[in-house]
Amino acid sequence: MARYTGADCRLCRREGNKLFLKGDRCYTDKCAVERRPYPPGEAGKKRVKESEYRIQLREKQKTKRIYGLLEKQFRGYYDLANRQQGVTGENLLRILESRLDNVVYRLGFSKSRDEARQQVRHGHITVNARRVDIPSFRVKAGDLIAIGPKARDLLVIKTSLISNEKTEVPQWLEVDIEKLQGSVLALPVREQIDLEIREQLIIELYSK
Ligand code: SF4
Repeated sequence: MARYTGADCRLCRREGNKLFLKGDRCYTDKCAVERRPYPPGEAGKKRVKESEYRIQLREKQKTKRIYGLLEKQFRGYYDLANRQQGVTGENLLRILESRLDNVVYRLGFSKSRDEARQQVRHGHITVNARRVDIPSFRVKAGDLIAIGPKARDLLVIKTSLISNEKTEVPQWLEVDIEKLQGSVLALPVREQIDLEIREQLIIELYSK
């Protein structure tokens, strides 16, 4: 699948928000949003009039970029969320959070969602003891996610675990660092998703 291959920090500067796409660097003063808090490019420092449409669009773009998705896939998740019972915005975030690459990141097995995606693609992750190499695979309550036997000694995974030791694992997940595994206690409710996303704006944009 085609992917954005430009600089991650440009995306954060575009959205005017830290999207935490680069792991450790995001927590240092090297962060590009901290250093240059204006959009990239020639016109970056000019003031742009904020229309309702533009605000909704930016919220959608920001969310898409946090999870590293392209438009078609993101739109597909919206359609799915819209068909489910309950609040569409919350459904959408729950679907996004339940992606296997996001869960690997949330469990602290990787420094970023991007790195988690690579781990899954390379077959390093198992779900209920079976190898799953599809980053968009959606976990469900009760699933057991683990680092596969061959990947346990990989340097990239070890450094992620060390640097993520202080990261708080969300309440809907449980991690066992000794066993390099974690389980899904339940899919998250909105309050358990710690992202500053105004999902209602995304719903309004797609409902037009
Ligand atoms: Fe975004 Fe991280 Fe780059 Fe800062 S360092 S601009 S948070 S990707």
